[in-house]
Parts: sequence; C-alpha cells; structure tokens
Amino acid sequence: MKNFISTILVAAACMCAATFAMAEDHGCISSPNGVTDVYLFTDNGKAYYQVEHHSNPFISTSRLGLVTNAFDFSELEYVGIEQSPLEGCYEMNRTKASKAEFKVNQAVVTFRNPKGETLQVEFRVGNNDVAFRYIIPKAGETGSVRIMNELTEFSFNDSPSHNYVKTYLTPQSHALIGWKRTKPSYEEYYGIGNPVDAKNDYGHGYTFPALFQLGGDGWVLVSETGVDGRFCGSRLSEYYETSGNVEGLVGASYKIEFPMPDENNGNGTSEPAIAIPGATPWRTITLGKTLAPIVETTVAWDHIEPLYETKHDYKFGKSAWSWIVWQDASMNMPDQKAYVDFASEMGLPYLLVDALWDEKLGYEGIEELAAYAKSKNVDLFLWYSSSGWWNDIVQGPYNIMSNPILRKRDMRWMKEIGVKGIKVDFFGGDKQETMLYYESILSDADDNGLMCIFHGATLPRGWEKLYPNYVGSEAVRASENLVFSQYECEQEAQAACLHPFIRNAVGSMEFGGCFLNERLSRGNNRGTTRRTTDVFQIGTLVLYQNAVQMLALAPNNLTDAPQLCLDFVKEVPTTWDETRYIAGFPGENVVLARRNGDKWYVVAVNAVDQPLEVNVKDVLKELGIEKASVRLIDGGNDPKESKASASTKISVSKNDAAVLVIG
Ligand code: CA
Repeated sequence: MKNFISTILVAAACMCAATFAMAEDHGCISSPNGVTDVYLFTDNGKAYYQVEHHSNPFISTSRLGLVTNAFDFSELEYVGIEQSPLEGCYEMNRTKASKAEFKVNQAVVTFRNPKGETLQVEFRVGNNDVAFRYIIPKAGETGSVRIMNELTEFSFNDSPSHNYVKTYLTPQSHALIGWKRTKPSYEEYYGIGNPVDAKNDYGHGYTFPALFQLGGDGWVLVSETGVDGRFCGSRLSEYYETSGNVEGLVGASYKIEFPMPDENNGNGTSEPAIAIPGATPWRTITLGKTLAPIVETTVAWDHIEPLYETKHDYKFGKSAWSWIVWQDASMNMPDQKAYVDFASEMGLPYLLVDALWDEKLGYEGIEELAAYAKSKNVDLFLWYSSSGWWNDIVQGPYNIMSNPILRKRDMRWMKEIGVKGIKVDFFGGDKQETMLYYESILSDADDNGLMCIFHGATLPRGWEKLYPNYVGSEAVRASENLVFSQYECEQEAQAACLHPFIRNAVGSMEFGGCFLNERLSRGNNRGTTRRTTDVFQIGTLVLYQNAVQMLALAPNNLTDAPQLCLDFVKEVPTTWDETRYIAGFPGENVVLARRNGDKWYVVAVNAVDQPLEVNVKDVLKELGIEKASVRLIDGGNDPKESKASASTKISVSKNDAAVLVIG
C-alpha cells in the first residue's frame, strides 16, 4: 500500500489542485533550494494553499481565511503577490541552539473579500519550514477586530482506509477537570502512530505541536509561534474528512481552533482580538524526509523578535528541589536546609522552594532560608500558584501573582532578598486573557531580575526569544507523574522517546527529572518503582532541554547513588550551542547529540525490546568529527565509564541509555 500511495503521490507532484477543475492557480512560493513549494489557489470564492516537499504533497488542499466581527474573509478573491528573499541570523541562550539562521522566500499575498476589504497572508517559505500569518490592514475607522473563526486548515492526503498518515498527537482535555479543576494544562498522553480517525478521550482536538508521518515519504510537525499577550493560544480541531487533491485519496484535515469557552473558569472570551493594522501569530509547518529537520528546527524563533531588553545577566544551571521526592511534608526549615546543603555539596546553583512555603515557612522563614542558602552559594527559586479565580487551588501562595499590586510587592521583596526566579503553576488555559497574564508576570519579573518557569501551563510559543527572563514550561506529563503512578513509570522510556520529536522540538521543557532513587519516595523504600536505569536518568539531562534543570535527586543519593552518576550530573551543562538528530523513531528510541562549546554530549535512549545498536563511528561521522577523545557511560544500574573509539559498538536495552561525551 505504501508503494502504491508513494507512486501516485509522486505522479501528482506539480499538479496542484487536481480535483479542482475550476480552481484558479495563483502560483507558487518556492524555498531557496527549491525542495519546498507552497502553492496558492482560489476555487469557488475560497482560498487554499498546498505544500509540496521534494515534489510530494505534504500538506494537501487546505483552506485559508478569517472571519472577524468586522470583516468576513471567508470568501476571498486573489489580488496579487509580492515575493522577496529574506534571511536572518540571531543568537539565543536558552534553547536547543545558540545561533540560528534562516533563509526563506517571503511572500505577501493580497486577497479581497466580496465587499472589497483586504486580507493579506504573509508566507515565509524555508527549505524545511513554512511559516504564515494573516495581516489585516487598517480599513476606514475600524481600529480593532475580534477574530471569531480562523479557517486555516492543515490537510493531508490519506488513503481511504487511513493507513498512510500516522499521527503523534496529544489531545486537549476538557476545561475545569482534574485535580482542583486545574486543566487544561498540556499534560495528556500522546496517541502514538495512530490513524487520523483514532478517537481521543475528550473530543476537543489536539494541542500543539502535532506530528504526522506520511507513509514512507516523510514527517510534518505543525505548531504556532509568536503568541504573546495580544492573542490566544490555538490548537488543532478534531480530524475531519475533506476531498483529497489526488485521485483515490481522501483529505485528512484539521483546522485552527481557539480556546474553549469554559477555560479560565469561563472568564475572558474564546475569540482573540487584535488592533489593526495587525497580524495573527505564525502558523508553522516543519517538513522533513527524515526526522532531522523536525528535531533541529528553529522555526519557533526564526520570525519573531524580543519584546523587551533585559538589563539582567541571568545565570542558568541546575537546581535541587525537595517537593518531587519528599513532597509537601518537606516544606519545613530543617528539610529545606538539608536540600540547600545537598545543592551546595553537588555544586548546584539553585534550590526551588515549592508549594506551601507561605504557610509553613512564612516570608521571614524564606528570608532566613535565602540567607542560609547564599552562605552556601545557593540561590532560591520560589513557587507561586498563578490562581486566581479559575481553579480550586489552596496550595499557597495563591491570589498574589494574579493581583498586579501584590505581585509587584512580592517581586520587589524577592529582589531585595536575592531570590533569582519563580515557578508559577496552575494557569487557566489558552485564552488571550491568560496569555496576557503570562506576559505580565514575565515583564514584572524581569523588572526585578527574576527568571520564570511555568507549570500547569500552556506550550511556550517562541517565548525564549520574546521574553529574556523566560526559562521554561512544563506543558508535558512531567516527573510528578512518575511519583504519582506506577503506570507512568512503566511508560517512562516511551514518553522520553517522543519529546525530542514533538514537545521539546518547539520549546524548552521543564520536566523536573533525573531520579536516582529506585523508589520514588523519601527514604527510597516505598512508592512507585523506577523501571529505567541510572544511566537513563542522567541521560535525560541531555535528552530534555531546559536552561534551568530542576533535578529530582534527593540528599540520600549522595550515599546510595553511583558516584559516576553524581559526577555526570555535576558536569553536564544545561545550555546548548547546537542540537542534532542522529537516529531514532518517536516512542521507540532516539540518539540525540547536543553541543556545549567544543564538547558533544550524545544520548542514546531505548524504549523497545529490540536493542538499540549505536556505532560510535556513525555518530562521529554524523557530527563531522574525524578525531576526538570519546568517553562512554553505560552499564544501566551498574554504570561504568570507559574510553570509546570509532570502532566501539554500543547496544542499549529497553529502559536503558548510553551517554557519549565527545571532545
Ligand atoms: Ca504539572
């Protein structure tokens, strides 16, 4: 079947709009090297785009358009296109790469609705990334619009029996469900390799990013970026069927959806509003014959600019964190000081003081702890609930971040006592009101030299570039679930082998991992049982990218964990100059390389029964390294370090990992 589809897909190349006899073709925007083409056409008063990659239709006939309260751009007539090459390069210090460059052909396509009102679509077409957004020019007296519906579709040619397109999607949950009615929070399971018509538990579509495999032809990652306080976070709808643009195939379609009305406890609208002239955020499509362009993409940051400059020199690194293993009962001064001592002993620059500190330590207690930590070269991050009027959280402090007066008061206090960052938890959803709230926290925090991490939170959409003090978000089923559920421990390796291809491909992921307890509890003698090896756990510090890593280590690990693992935790950086895909398949295994300075850290992780075979020679070749010293850490729960050479072959079993340090 695969071959059959490949053949007809190839035959269909450059025959855009095959099923639209009356369609008017409005030309094509090609990427600089010509491997990616975006075709535009109108048919029966509606506008469409298609994307071909290596002459295969990767995105089939997909609708463009917007409906606003002032202008209806659902029916569109083509007016014209202006194209020009565009390139840029920029630096980052908190993502998968420290330098990024992009080369695109930029096209501004102008459409007119039947009333003669103008809508533009700006495309930026790179070799492996397509980004586009809508621009609404000023029209008469109208200075703002509410966008009631974005018609943008992402459609794929699929076989009628749905065995060509495979999906790697995580659904949007109902609003106001889960613990303390805190959902949605981007913490649902992924469907792995499902057909497009697979059902999910909720019926609200899927959160970004969304990964699709097109038979043997390649991969597509759909997401969005540049979402700030002036728009909502969007998602993909449920799957529906449209007509395919190749004879014998069907169109498997998803469209942009705005937040659900009951998110944020029903406060704020679902439909974003923008001032005009204005633009929507970028919708992004990353395309690859292999998974490398998906893992390595920087499209989340290419087409956006910082929203403010900072005068602070934020320092990233590793942090201890008592809550993850010792839980709520550890919010007392002796335990927090024990964790300060642990952080100090391990050379970790930070301690995250999690929920309930307001009640159990008080503000004066935090001042005492901050001073004690400072004397040991450790600085604090403080947890806050974001809520608020949108859930039932009673873990304090709450009702502070949501109140600008109290928020600024606490932030000034934190600055005075030398706190370096905040972790804000339990947000209310993706409405524009909530996005503005994230931005307000970030902006006020930067005024006070505070880094921000968000939990119980939405996907960051280019935030490492927009906000200089933004560090990372959870937006994943993170380490807490390993403590809560044995099922999660059984699935840990599988989930780990998804994130480099999906969630962590578009933004920093604050997972809070690296357990070296065998049992995930205080005392290391009860609770859930870890199924992955010690080397797997330290390997996640390379696998998961976040510029501040909250570690799930506990003080007992100083005496009960392998010294080699502790040494690696001390050594491994948290910021990266470069990230490279070497091998792997979502949910099965991954070999990923990250460079810091002149050292490459390579992690190979396996989630399936079949051993993952890695030849050091192939890794070196892939990284373009002819000669280097290579250290290998493997051995599972009995870790050992050895010198490796080009001829070294590594075999990684299920739930295990190997780490190479090159250079
Ligand atoms: Ca969470």
